[in-house]
Amino acid sequence: MAKKIILENRILVKISSFCLVGLIALIISIGTTGVTVGFKVDYKGEEIAVIRETTVFDSAKILAVDSVKGGNSKNVKLSKPSFHLTLTISNRLTDDKSLANMLIDRADNIVYATELKVNGKTAACVSNFDVEEYLNSCLAKYNIDGAENSSEFVDKVETQKGYFLAENIDNVDTAVSVMDKLSVKTVSTLTSDVQVPFSTVKEKTSAQVIGYSEVKTAGINGVNRVTEKIVTLNGVESERTELSNEVVSSPVTQVVVVGTARSVATASQRKVAYSQGFIFPLPKSSYIVTAYYGDGRNHKGVDLAADAGTPIYVVKDGTVVSSGWDGNYGYSMIVDHGNGIKTRYSHASKLLYAAGEKVYAGNTIALVGTTGMSTGNHLHFEVMINGVNYDPAPYIGLG
Ligand SMILES: [Zn+2]
Repeated sequence: MAKKIILENRILVKISSFCLVGLIALIISIGTTGVTVGFKVDYKGEEIAVIRETTVFDSAKILAVDSVKGGNSKNVKLSKPSFHLTLTISNRLTDDKSLANMLIDRADNIVYATELKVNGKTAACVSNFDVEEYLNSCLAKYNIDGAENSSEFVDKVETQKGYFLAENIDNVDTAVSVMDKLSVKTVSTLTSDVQVPFSTVKEKTSAQVIGYSEVKTAGINGVNRVTEKIVTLNGVESERTELSNEVVSSPVTQVVVVGTARSVATASQRKVAYSQGFIFPLPKSSYIVTAYYGDGRNHKGVDLAADAGTPIYVVKDGTVVSSGWDGNYGYSMIVDHGNGIKTRYSHASKLLYAAGEKVYAGNTIALVGTTGMSTGNHLHFEVMINGVNYDPAPYIGLG
């Protein structure tokens, strides 16, 4: 009642200072501008709004308390207001919703924050931190470069922004730790070019000797464009499916020409046979050379392939120093020709002289065979001078 009297007194004072025209103008202006009575709200020493009735404040208080999420809303601390009757214009009156926001802004223990829920349960609540952005970075951390990636959390993850009691706010590290532990499933669609190795075929030619090898057509790797769906769980691959595989270019088969012919000594190669004082160790035209001295494998002599039983001639006069089985040499004989010169005849099917016997150039001392480490009938022939092996070829006219 006291407030009303004050109001009436004010109006009377104002009326007394106006003329009739002024009064009429005032009435018109009240009608047209909507001047009305209201209550100034003094809150924490500050005039924050004018409301139509004090009940608007009660309604705002309920709205403010209700807007606080989680925790016990009874813990929301709101100060008591004081009201003062005043005149104002209707459209300047503050409604309960706006007033509720003002109360929240001025509350000591209410914070605007983001709540993170995992499977419907509150996992963290933080203010001044962009939770959505951090969640997006968590989703992207297992993306495959160059692929189209789409990720989701295995658990149901939700966020909501709003007002929370300060006591329910977690520090940022806690929230980050919760988000870092969320399992992420990533589906990546990756297209990449895969090399398809070329194959090699051999083309045999009798026009070239064994060991000859030449690339006729160079091989070229093919390229396939493969698109795969790759599913990972926390970066660990759990599924890979080929979606498409198109040939960009087919491989080109490499063709290598290899020789099959065995070496044959020519007449000119044989003609120097006697110049060294040696005769040829086999009947002429009965042999072909299948391996030369050295031959990339430290071959100590020459191999002369001939039919089994072909006579082996001693190349110069001398004395048999050994005749018998000699390991890899099979049946083998060594003849000493004097002046430190010795010759060896190996893989024989039969030895016809014994150690200590004298032999003369052209004597048949053994027969061709394939004993010891040998893959076919042949004579392995060596020349040794003072215990060192030399290429026998020039001594028997093989060049
Ligand atoms: Zn040999």
